[in-house]
Amino acid sequence: MSDTAGGLKLPNQPLDNGVKLPLVFEAPRRGKPPRHWADLDHDERVAALSTLGLPAFRVDQIDRHLFERLDVDPRLFTDLPSSVRDDVAAALFPELLHPVRDVTCDGDETVKSLWRLHDGALVESVLMRYPDRNTLCVSSQAGCGMACPFCATGQGGLQRNLSAAEIIAQVIDAAGRLRRGEVSGGPGRLSNVVFMGMGEPLANYRTVVRSLRMMTEPAPRGLGMSARGITVSTVGLVPRIEQLAGEGMPVTLAISLHAPDDELRDEIVPINTRWKVSEVLDAAWHYAEVTRRRVSIEYIMIRDINDQPERADLLAAELKRRGDFGWFHVNLIPLNPTPGSVWTASRRSVEKEFVRRLEARGVPVTVRDTRGREIDGACGQLAALER
Ligand code: SAH
Repeated sequence: MSDTAGGLKLPNQPLDNGVKLPLVFEAPRRGKPPRHWADLDHDERVAALSTLGLPAFRVDQIDRHLFERLDVDPRLFTDLPSSVRDDVAAALFPELLHPVRDVTCDGDETVKSLWRLHDGALVESVLMRYPDRNTLCVSSQAGCGMACPFCATGQGGLQRNLSAAEIIAQVIDAAGRLRRGEVSGGPGRLSNVVFMGMGEPLANYRTVVRSLRMMTEPAPRGLGMSARGITVSTVGLVPRIEQLAGEGMPVTLAISLHAPDDELRDEIVPINTRWKVSEVLDAAWHYAEVTRRRVSIEYIMIRDINDQPERADLLAAELKRRGDFGWFHVNLIPLNPTPGSVWTASRRSVEKEFVRRLEARGVPVTVRDTRGREIDGACGQLAALER
């Protein structure tokens, strides 16, 4: 037998001969995660329970456990008949996120969690506590197919899309930890979710929208979060931005622009060869018009690559061309250098001049704080949209 794993040739012998191969040789089994309660809509939940011989009114009870009490283990759902708790657990509540480790920094106010999925893929989420809000940065894919050269995740390629339940499980875990006071700073409530972890959320569109609905739907069928507190960040998949504008869910949109001109953006955000700066900004403008939500323009400051004063002027001009500045907000992000990359963050003086030029033209701009730097955000790319 011969097989390959991660490009490595495996020995030409059966693997079940009792010899434990080092971890690096174990081929990850990429595949669809097992079905979970949080993958299903209401009718599907009714149907799933009926195959276990349970009546429809149990759906509400289970929803309340999961979405209101943030309880994830049906064996502890004492209002279910004890004879069926194990069946519900086995059929509908598989463990999706296996905790690998937590790393904390910023005086324990930032917690990065590394999770192993059922097929061995690894994803991260980051919880950040602030005086006025608690923000969770979630992953929507294992890996990412967008290949942005400054981003560590982009270098590894796409492994697979996460399921809705794998996304929601990150949120329920964080909300539960906050509620139970397990995070430094005392009990709290999860107020914000940003899709700025691994993956391109709009490349996993249907599932991400399903997870958004579950987050915003009132309890007991969902987590009852405010759409205003949720941010979807994208490289700029134009047709999907248009589609999201029509979902009737006014989540905040963030565009990872990083360059105001096609020549540079083609290099640093490769999907730009498909949808140009002007198309992305038009779609963003349209999104703001339809949802009445201010769109965030993300701009990583990379030393001597995209931080020239002319680019600040061009960015301001591109935004101004589309009307009132009130609908855009520019968020500058100091580059978090990834291992092996020659790129580094802009000098402070250059960053200041960039800010000055935008402000001089009336563009609302902030420099994002760099929570989680010491713990590497997630592969140097997880950071919250913080103004
Ligand atoms: N794919 C989506 C969401 C994930 S990335 C997107 O591109 O928007 C979330 C944010 O982190 C994006 O703005 C991305 O450009 C930024 N980012 C990626 N690598 C980074 C790095 N090394 N330093 C700082 N920000 C980074």
